[in-house]
Amino acid sequence: MPEGVDSRLRERGGYALARKAVDAMERAGVWPTAVNFELWVNYVADPQGPLGREIERLLTSGEAFTESVAEKLAAEFLPKSRLNDHIRDAGDQLGRELAAVSLAIADAQKTSFVYGETLAVASRSLNAVQDVDRLKATVDTLSTATQRVQDENRALEARLAESSAEVNRLREHLEQVRRDATTDGLTNIANRKAFDARLQQACADAQESGRTLALAVLDIDHFKAFNDTWGHQTGDQVLRYVASVIGRNSPAPRFCARYGGEEFAVIFQGETAADVYAALQTMRTEISSRILKRRATGEDLGQITVSAGMAMLRPDETPHSLVERADGALYASKRTGRNRVTSAEAIANAA
Ligand code: GH3
Ligand code: MG
Ligand code: MG
Repeated sequence: MPEGVDSRLRERGGYALARKAVDAMERAGVWPTAVNFELWVNYVADPQGPLGREIERLLTSGEAFTESVAEKLAAEFLPKSRLNDHIRDAGDQLGRELAAVSLAIADAQKTSFVYGETLAVASRSLNAVQDVDRLKATVDTLSTATQRVQDENRALEARLAESSAEVNRLREHLEQVRRDATTDGLTNIANRKAFDARLQQACADAQESGRTLALAVLDIDHFKAFNDTWGHQTGDQVLRYVASVIGRNSPAPRFCARYGGEEFAVIFQGETAADVYAALQTMRTEISSRILKRRATGEDLGQITVSAGMAMLRPDETPHSLVERADGALYASKRTGRNRVTSAEAIANAA
């Protein structure tokens, strides 16, 4: 649960907030399951936040608030708690695995110790050896002990191989969990959370190295009307298509993300303003030049366009201010006719 809400539930007014969430769930005809409660309490605490607006949108769209919708929302907007669960599970398994390996090693050490003792005894009896039979008996003892150590070593090796396979599996699982927490479920590109973290880091890097950094935001034009005409599912297909064009045109070190509902963002590191502008034009024309068809019926959906705004990071500028300037440039693109790219620098120069 985002920290703010969690602490609000622990202070005066906590019960009122919880009750408000339950009442809102009842009005919306949503079961008060644990996941739904967590979603709803965040929603009533901050109806204007990203989660609040998404729930609002779902409710007004009349879409059924199914378990899978709730899970999707929780995965996207409440990643912290889910991630913790998964990490805890994987951590528990890792702990058990390590305990089993320590036991196997301890066993092997015990066997080695016994083997050492056997060798010592054998060596004493070899010193005292007087006849061939005694010698044979000692050698037999030695070979039996050697055999036992070899068997034990083989078992240990097998156990270690098993363990390392298990540890690898867990590592992959954790990697998957990490990917899920940073990926947008609909479009499969990075989500807002991952983007914010990346932007913070990229700005710090750029300011340290003196290399350029540009931020672009792209927003689908008149998308509400599109949804109203063709429905949300077809709208979702368009979102996937637009994300795929932006993704294809954002090879590393570029980094793109779904920034909000129908809004995307791209970070460009070490590129000139002209290169960034050209890349955005490429994305914009590629998106607008394709005539989209409705998958189910083959109906012509017409042209989809996007507007974009970009800004180059200034020395000592905060990520927040960079986002605001890129947003301002996007807004200028919208105001001057949409389906275009505007740079914050061009606006500043014109003024
Ligand atoms: P503008 O050209 O000014 O951007 O107009 P617009 O209609 O695109 O902008 P507005 O912000 O008014 O509406 C955004 C719409 O995007 C509203 C909502 O229906 C749609 N939208 C947001 N997220 C999703 C989504 O996940 N799936 C679908 N299908 N639609 C979404
Ligand atoms: Mg839009
Ligand atoms: Mg928008």
